[in-house]
Amino acid sequence: MPFDLVIRNGTVVDGSGLAAYRGDVGIRGGRIARIGRLDERGRQEIDADGLVVTPGFIDAHTHMDAQVFWDSLGTNSCWHGVTSVLMGNCGFTLAPSKPGAHQLVMDNLERAEDIPAEAMAAGIDWSWESFPQYLDAVERTPKAINYASQIGHSALRTAVMGERAFGGVASEADLGAMSSTLAEALLAGAFGFSTSISDHHVTPAGRPIASRSTSWEELSALVEVVGHTGFGVFQLAVDTSRAESEDLQLAMSFYDELRKLAVATRVPTTYGLRHQHLDEQLATFDAAATEGGSMFGQCEAIASTSLLSFETSMPFDQLPEWREVRSLPLSEQVAVLRDATRRVELLAALDAAVAAGGFAGTRRNRLSFETFVPLREGSSESVGEIAERRRVAPTEALIDCALETDLTMLFRIAATPEQDEALLTAMRHPRTVMTFGDSGAHVKQISGADHQTTLLSHWVRDRQAFTLEEAVRMITLAPALAWQIPGRGLLREGMVADVNILDPNAVAPGIPTIVADLPGGARRIRQRASGFRSTIVGGIEVFASGEHTGALPGRLLRGPLALVD
Ligand SMILES: [Zn+2]
Repeated sequence: MPFDLVIRNGTVVDGSGLAAYRGDVGIRGGRIARIGRLDERGRQEIDADGLVVTPGFIDAHTHMDAQVFWDSLGTNSCWHGVTSVLMGNCGFTLAPSKPGAHQLVMDNLERAEDIPAEAMAAGIDWSWESFPQYLDAVERTPKAINYASQIGHSALRTAVMGERAFGGVASEADLGAMSSTLAEALLAGAFGFSTSISDHHVTPAGRPIASRSTSWEELSALVEVVGHTGFGVFQLAVDTSRAESEDLQLAMSFYDELRKLAVATRVPTTYGLRHQHLDEQLATFDAAATEGGSMFGQCEAIASTSLLSFETSMPFDQLPEWREVRSLPLSEQVAVLRDATRRVELLAALDAAVAAGGFAGTRRNRLSFETFVPLREGSSESVGEIAERRRVAPTEALIDCALETDLTMLFRIAATPEQDEALLTAMRHPRTVMTFGDSGAHVKQISGADHQTTLLSHWVRDRQAFTLEEAVRMITLAPALAWQIPGRGLLREGMVADVNILDPNAVAPGIPTIVADLPGGARRIRQRASGFRSTIVGGIEVFASGEHTGALPGRLLRGPLALVD
């Protein structure tokens, strides 16, 4: 029987971390049928000479729960070699959800994950109530890549408690209902249970999202349900009031509590690593393992992922001198900034604000415009370096850079050497997985999809911090094992044929741009990637040289409990 597809003469990096080798990959019926020197022809043949053949990448931290219904491709992730995504992180899911309570469900998501309300209103049909019905809806939806989901605590709490979920204490009956709904979700194929007890997560009205009203007892009881049901991870957005505190003892009081829960319930426990007390977090994972539990951290390839632009927001938007200008259409802002008199006034206001202490940045640092890097082809020069070269103030260099593209330029804040070092420490630890991208969320600040391609371009090719084999393992087999996603993450006979064919000398994230393509017209960041010859999902080529082939072979992936009747 001929192969459906043969990938010929490629270098196979199979996801295991073992050394690469030359070989042909034969695919039949959506699975890898044979790897080696293949004489038989395939109905389709792809010449991979000079290219690397890897498993499709798996991103286990996304918020594409709503996006899956309006974006059949799964952008931006699909452009970066990601063939399977896990949704339902940080407690946010669109199910279970009672009719009449949709707004409460969206309240949980809208501000905390910065997904525009108008996009959700226009793009979600709410054809489900229960979590199993939500999974069925995802299953029916045509899609280019594969989706799996955890069930979120905020949705669970809101479905059971209604308005009381926000601020109320769960009664015994509430907890009983949450527990049975959670078990039902796991049995239908959820890959775990997620929550957020992060201070950063609030509703549009500024009140804590539903899961933040949980007691530790409620949370422990629900994680125990996962343990008793027999499958699934516990993912959380951590208690930032303690975890991000400079007080080590306070921070450790949280991590110790979490470790005890992980050990007691035997439920693999995971969260996005915090920058504070990194070594102590990694030591906690080792301690949990010694005690018979399992904890692992989610790490990033990029220290500061937020992008800034005049099209979205800049730190000085609220300065009195700038507020009116920034509310104008972009083309009029260009005109104002090119007017010599106005420009001098506006720059003076900016310089005065900098002299008076500047702007609050992320992670409690003050923002410095010198560290802004304009994102453009072939240059990684910072605003500080440009200012020095042009002998102007950084503020002036910033405005001039933005004006070069009529204010559409995006800026990233450069990582410090310390931040880079911390990223490496996290990436190198055996109990971490590269998967903290948040694709689908914070759509105006991040693309969320560029960690995998940054790992391969920056950390493997430019910095040589990892071999290609090690890096591919970090984004394929490692997440597949951590979340127990069956049949994926490895190029071996019998495995599902989710495959990337890429040029290791060219693979890289592209320059992000702002587009207004969300349902209802809201804006988001679009970011493609270069270096991919093909992305194959279930044996079908979905992207060829970065372009969609028209195929939508993506599947809903269900956890193993769903496979047993
Ligand atoms: Zn998240």
